[in-house]
Amino acid sequence: MESFLVNNEGYYGDFGGAYIPEILHKCVTELQQTYLTVLQSEAFQQEYAQLLRDYVGRPTPLYLARRLSERYGCRLYLKREDLNHTGAHKINNTIGQILIARQMGKKRIIAETGAGQHGVATATVCALMNMECVVYMGKMDVERQRVNVEKMKMLGATVVPVTSGNMTLKDATNEAIRDWCCHPADTYYIIGSTVGPHPYPDMVARLQSVISEEIEKQLLAQEGRSCPDYLIACVGGGSNAAGTIYRYLDNPEVQIVLAEAGGKGVESGMTAATIALGKMGIIHGARTYVIQNADGQIEEPYSISAGLDYPGIGPMHANLAARKRAVVLAVNDDEAIRAAYELTKLEGIIPALESAHALGALPKLRFKPEEVVVLTVSGRGDKDMETYLSHAPQAETHS
Ligand SMILES: *Cc1c(COP(=O)(O)O)cnc(C)c1O
Repeated sequence: MESFLVNNEGYYGDFGGAYIPEILHKCVTELQQTYLTVLQSEAFQQEYAQLLRDYVGRPTPLYLARRLSERYGCRLYLKREDLNHTGAHKINNTIGQILIARQMGKKRIIAETGAGQHGVATATVCALMNMECVVYMGKMDVERQRVNVEKMKMLGATVVPVTSGNMTLKDATNEAIRDWCCHPADTYYIIGSTVGPHPYPDMVARLQSVISEEIEKQLLAQEGRSCPDYLIACVGGGSNAAGTIYRYLDNPEVQIVLAEAGGKGVESGMTAATIALGKMGIIHGARTYVIQNADGQIEEPYSISAGLDYPGIGPMHANLAARKRAVVLAVNDDEAIRAAYELTKLEGIIPALESAHALGALPKLRFKPEEVVVLTVSGRGDKDMETYLSHAPQAETHS
């Protein structure tokens, strides 16, 4: 059987690769040739493991959610990435990449951000490592995400509002790539998800794979077996999902369920359901499914959750969907909100809106009582309180 991991050319089946402007060829090739050596070096592994433990707070708990298990008729475990420093899984990746950047002798870090979560995670590790940090953010998002902008500034980063295009994530990413083209020698670009040209999707997946390494050990200790029956995660670009499934990809007995953002409905025109609607295209250096119009123009995606509204999807996940290794469900805004309130009421955990989409997949699935389900809670809901309050389920019935 062909593996679902990346091949030597940076492809997952028909997806992936590195479609980049000529000027970036040298630095992308340099990264392709360096990243595995660094990741596999003793020095990196030691420092990375120590920071994950002492700075990020890993391992994160694998929590058997008793009341939620009862509701859905299975043994439901939550992988608590919400308990990480900075409130989500993103820091697993930024810590790893800044260590790689330092090893490569880079002095300046750039990043793109949509809601600001990846920007904050990047600014955090730049403060930690005393590196210059420039974060590109669409002007619309700068206005919508004031608190994260203030956090990045307090952490010492320069936030550059991007005024091209629709002034959101896609445009911020284009601007970060432009910056990289102008400063290829001294600048390292920390991408926030399993997207972008090879080697980023594989590098980010490997850095997030600590999630599934821990799941294996924790399940073995708590259930007496290291493999669950189901893994469930939400997908924006795909990094928390990649981390959750990484060690289980080539084990067909583990069923993989990915939740993408349906927005107001897959057919509504206001959606980020890339697997449901996307066609093969190229976005930010990778060949993958992209939501586009008949002329191939990228369509502006929509989701109530800022972390999921990306018009592409990581090449690993596109391949998993194309080859039916993963079931991909579109979870709409209202379903995610309902799921977030349900988790809060039953377990006392307020999830990030993104994670609420993974929870929103539960009512669409049927389990047997003895089946073991692991669902990753990718982040905490503090940042989403305004949205939750203005969309409380009782208010919903009046609209
Ligand atoms: C950014 C973010 C996501 C989406 O990104 P992925 O790369 O798909 O994981 C999901 N959950 C949270 C909490 C996030 O901050």
